[in-house]
Amino acid sequence: MASIVLTNVDKIYAGGVKAVNGLNLEIKDGEFMVLVGPSGCGKSTALRMIAGLEDISGGEISIGDKVVNHLPPKDRDIAMVFQNYALYPHMTVEENLAFGLKLRKMPKPEIQKRVNDAAKMLGLETYLKRKPAALSGGQRQRVAMGRAIVREPQAFLMDEPLSNLDAKLRVSMRASLNQMHERLGVTTVYVTHDQVEAMTLGDRVCVLRDGLLQQVDTPQNLFDKP
Ligand code: ADP
Ligand code: ADP
Repeated sequence: MASIVLTNVDKIYAGGVKAVNGLNLEIKDGEFMVLVGPSGCGKSTALRMIAGLEDISGGEISIGDKVVNHLPPKDRDIAMVFQNYALYPHMTVEENLAFGLKLRKMPKPEIQKRVNDAAKMLGLETYLKRKPAALSGGQRQRVAMGRAIVREPQAFLMDEPLSNLDAKLRVSMRASLNQMHERLGVTTVYVTHDQVEAMTLGDRVCVLRDGLLQQVDTPQNLFDKP
């Protein structure tokens, strides 16, 4: 686990769009921070800069005690979940969950333990031998989350992970995300345009508009003082 600190962070895309403008934000160790705001406000760009998928134009980003401005994603010890879960179609759920750990040459018993723990936490135990094609959208997204969890990263970054799911599934996935965060306590940055999601998931919520930070506070305080 680690805190994530953004200091005066800018992003100017080629063509001159200032997608993020002087963003200052401290995400505490173990905190669940939601970035929320309308389409185009810069939340994905902010997340992608934390992940290292997008260069930063100015300012500084640190994860734990490391300034990561110029570190590639693989050296940031983070795990990401996107809206489009890219599972390996020819592998079973179990193999999908284990794949990243096998690449890291982790001992087999440790892999098995982490896979089993993640499957249990996400309610995937009975699906371990299935392939993604035989899963529902919600189950696939759980596998994508499991794949991120098993790595035990310092931080968890999620970009609209529920937005391809129907309303009922979103409700149950929100509950799962809350439980998962309670169990693991991993520092999490979660991007959504959905205010209900923001209010139910976030320890704190950061509201962005046109690349600028509008407010950052607990859901309770934001709700009381709109
Ligand atoms: P959000 O995630 O809040 O919808 P984005 O971070 O995707 O917002 O986009 C913020 C702004 O930056 C928008 O004006 C968008 O059009 C622009 N933008 C995003 N990605 C790029 C890109 N690769 N090149 C140029 N402009 C971009
Ligand atoms: P979201 O709203 O979830 O951020 P978008 O559909 O706006 O998704 O963007 C999808 C992808 O297109 C992102 O990788 C983003 O960086 C890129 N993108 C968004 N706006 C622009 C733009 N104006 N020019 C080039 N790429 C863009």
